[in-house]
Amino acid sequence: MKLQKLLIFLFYLYFNAFTLTAQSSKSSQIDVLNYHVYLAPSFSKNYIEGNVSIKFSTSTQTEKVVFDSGDLIVTKLEGTHAIDFMQKGKKTIISLAQTDTNIHEIKLFYHGHPKKGLVFFDNAQKLYSVFFTSDWMICNDTPDDRATLKLDLLIPKEVVSVASGVLKDAVPVGNKISYSWHQDYETPTYTYGFAIGSFNKSADNYNGKPLKYFAEDYTSAEIEKIFQYTRDMMSFFEEKSGISFPQEEYSQVLMGHHYQEMSGFAILKKSYGQLVLQDSTETNLLSHELAHQWWGNLITCKNWNHFWLNEGFATFMSAAYNEYRFGPEKYQENIDSYLKVYDKIKSKGKDKSLVFKDWSNPSGDDRNLVYFKGAYVLHLLRKELGEVSFWKGIKYYAQTYCGQSVTTKDFQLAMEISSKKSLDSFFKKWVY
Ligand SMILES: [Zn+2]
Repeated sequence: MKLQKLLIFLFYLYFNAFTLTAQSSKSSQIDVLNYHVYLAPSFSKNYIEGNVSIKFSTSTQTEKVVFDSGDLIVTKLEGTHAIDFMQKGKKTIISLAQTDTNIHEIKLFYHGHPKKGLVFFDNAQKLYSVFFTSDWMICNDTPDDRATLKLDLLIPKEVVSVASGVLKDAVPVGNKISYSWHQDYETPTYTYGFAIGSFNKSADNYNGKPLKYFAEDYTSAEIEKIFQYTRDMMSFFEEKSGISFPQEEYSQVLMGHHYQEMSGFAILKKSYGQLVLQDSTETNLLSHELAHQWWGNLITCKNWNHFWLNEGFATFMSAAYNEYRFGPEKYQENIDSYLKVYDKIKSKGKDKSLVFKDWSNPSGDDRNLVYFKGAYVLHLLRKELGEVSFWKGIKYYAQTYCGQSVTTKDFQLAMEISSKKSLDSFFKKWVY
């Protein structure tokens, strides 16, 4: 990769990483089973009004439960066992009546001006979500609580929505349309999301599963070309993980200025499409975001201290896909570029262990370490174990922890069991 292109690539990844700041990494007493969200955005005011029904269980009988609520203002609480609520900081605390059940259902009505979790565009009728889900829906916003989702979006009839799950209904309501998206598949809340806008489209399918491509300001022919390798990438990641693509469909949306994987779809910066059109081997960010459907969404870091298990993996997998599609030189080019970023951080004396003790206030270098040192260390592990043993271990890890939240210890153990080799000294040197 030429240096200029590399810098652009890094900037994109950095920008994506920059969206991450400290979310709570509490070990929760709550296990949410399902969210049903209703959201009505007001584009001119960067404002949303909504409500969320949360069905959850508690590990013990408890009088209080705490949810993440960003800057949202709660106006009303409903629920058979719900007594009262109070808001403190970015939390909403619910008082529950003493009952003999550990399963509860509450409904919260709220409104607010999300600052980080939703990206508005100066009065234009478009919008998308990025990462900070508790900015726009009240939830248990931690990567180790997975739940199913129903998301209802009330939006003007001139625009359409793309969201996590499958579209079950689109019903006209006056001059608006109410879209109803259902995800009958549990994922962590940070993967929930949606995009609203006016798009050109193209479509494909992979083993009968719809692949949908949306973009602003590109023709359908261009869109088709930009996303032409999606099926191929999907087949590659299925093979490496040993797990079929778990969602019912996959959508990619070119709009705005972020890169964000979400459950069943991804947002990619609008101008990235130009880069792909100019050079069809420029697929790193398409494959990076798709790789997250396995490494991130399906096998999730338990807390943000183990974030490299999401980002290091997706970054490594994009190089591995390039090797498969374009040859070993392309892979080596990517690995060299990752090492260059890592070396630069090291030369500044900012190297740290991949497992962060405290992810409450990461610097730009910290974030880059998670992506690029993370990917480089996976490359080194590949060298250490050899081709067959490494990929066997990667598959064993994915299949063992499919649908779960994991720590680095789980990954190490999976690779050790699979390879029958102690990796203590490798992990001590490169990871801890
Ligand atoms: Zn990523």
